[in-house]
Amino acid sequence: MARGLSKSRYTQFRLCDKALWLGVFKPEEAVIDDAAKERFAAGTEIGEVAKELLGDHEDMTSRRPDGSLDYGKMIEKTADAVARGVENICEAAFSIDGNYCAVDILHKTENGYAIYEVKSSTQEDKEIYAQDVAYQKYVLTKCGLNIVGTYLVCINNEYVRQGDIDIHHLFKIEDMSEAVNAEYPIVEANIDSAVKVLEGPEPDKPLSTACLNPYKCAFWQYCTHNVPKPSVLNLYKMDWADRFKNFYNGRITFEDVRDMELSAKQRMQVECTLNGTTHINKEGIKSFLDTLTYPLYHLDFESIMPAIPLYDGTRPYQQLPTQYSLHIQKEPCGDLTHKEFLAPSKGNPLRPIAEALCRDIPTDVSVLVYNKAFECTRLRELAEMFPDLADHLLAIRDNVKDLLVPFSKGYYYLPAMGGSFSIKSVLPALFPNDPELDYHALDDMCQNGGDAMTLFPKLQYMSPEDEEKARRALLNYCHLDTLAMVRVLDKLYEAVE
Ligand code: SF4
Repeated sequence: MARGLSKSRYTQFRLCDKALWLGVFKPEEAVIDDAAKERFAAGTEIGEVAKELLGDHEDMTSRRPDGSLDYGKMIEKTADAVARGVENICEAAFSIDGNYCAVDILHKTENGYAIYEVKSSTQEDKEIYAQDVAYQKYVLTKCGLNIVGTYLVCINNEYVRQGDIDIHHLFKIEDMSEAVNAEYPIVEANIDSAVKVLEGPEPDKPLSTACLNPYKCAFWQYCTHNVPKPSVLNLYKMDWADRFKNFYNGRITFEDVRDMELSAKQRMQVECTLNGTTHINKEGIKSFLDTLTYPLYHLDFESIMPAIPLYDGTRPYQQLPTQYSLHIQKEPCGDLTHKEFLAPSKGNPLRPIAEALCRDIPTDVSVLVYNKAFECTRLRELAEMFPDLADHLLAIRDNVKDLLVPFSKGYYYLPAMGGSFSIKSVLPALFPNDPELDYHALDDMCQNGGDAMTLFPKLQYMSPEDEEKARRALLNYCHLDTLAMVRVLDKLYEAVE
């Protein structure tokens, strides 16, 4: 297997020959971000549920004592299942000429076999999965199977759970023959080229928009380590195609782009960075601060986004708020009162959180959030779900003010923000090395929103001691989010003094 191909190596090669090479020879250079981890976890969960989709089945998954997949065993078991005429074989494994694949569901038909490829996404863009499935069809055909159909199984995001999961409505099945047949004739040549890449030195591949499509490549950091930082690739809100165009025209550093036509915020970013200065627009900041009234409620939600709906009335990947933190100030830069809510570990969190919000936040106070689209949408959705609480929840939403505004409008800029106005960029720029605001000092069980998202659904399965520890970690994380907002607001007041 070391030099052969697999489904993922084939698709990696189709994306970029260097990505394939690095994946095999320098896998430690890959940076797997939270979003990728979540996609992987969702894929595993969805794959398990989908095994039931076509009825009775046999699962070929085999593991060694250390937990790793035992491919040899899987191939052996699959050959036996095929020989016995098993109708649905999950994780059906095949290998020929060093090229391996495991088919999510291999379904026996009257005159051959159909490949069902399960994806955790809700999109129906068959093109992007066709390479993967065409490779599987090639390997299976070489192994002597007659492949008569290729299907994509993906999530139906219109499905609303009521009672037990109805997998026939949770999934959509799409015929992907056309897209697979377009790729199939070039699979063999691609495999030959990919093997040559693996036999050669590290390929030299220029950066391009392909590095970011459909997701930022895991080797982005490795491939950009020689690019000066910051560079035109970090320029605020420039289209990626334009960034690369400038990059390859030699406009790379901020010095290089200084004479270009830039937007006001790009200009601010470039000048502040080159001059090492802070940009403060006192009038702008003051106009924002004047919109706040006291008492002021700093609010932050954490949520989960289960691929398979956990509760009645919810859809796949729906954002479901599970907890919040509130820091309350009676006057600008005043003392803090703290309130918090974390839904019970078991059961639907939505009614409890909606009731708690109505209990903790009056209808006539300013509510401050960072990037209001998220909180406002959750409040509107809760109002739609619970009509008896709708007036109160919508009043809270209508009183929301957005702490992002003074930054996104360019009233306050520091070079360390790096052209990003997310709280994760703004906070360390305003408070470098402040131990009170250090997320890494939190329990490593929960140091970011992704951790919170994956930890909450696990609470119900924990021992009482572990559950208590995890709930404390969740509360501490959310507490720090609103404390950070308080400190950022203090900075704005300080700036206009
Ligand atoms: S960052 Fe771009 S060039 Fe580098 S491996 Fe990934 S896709 Fe290839």
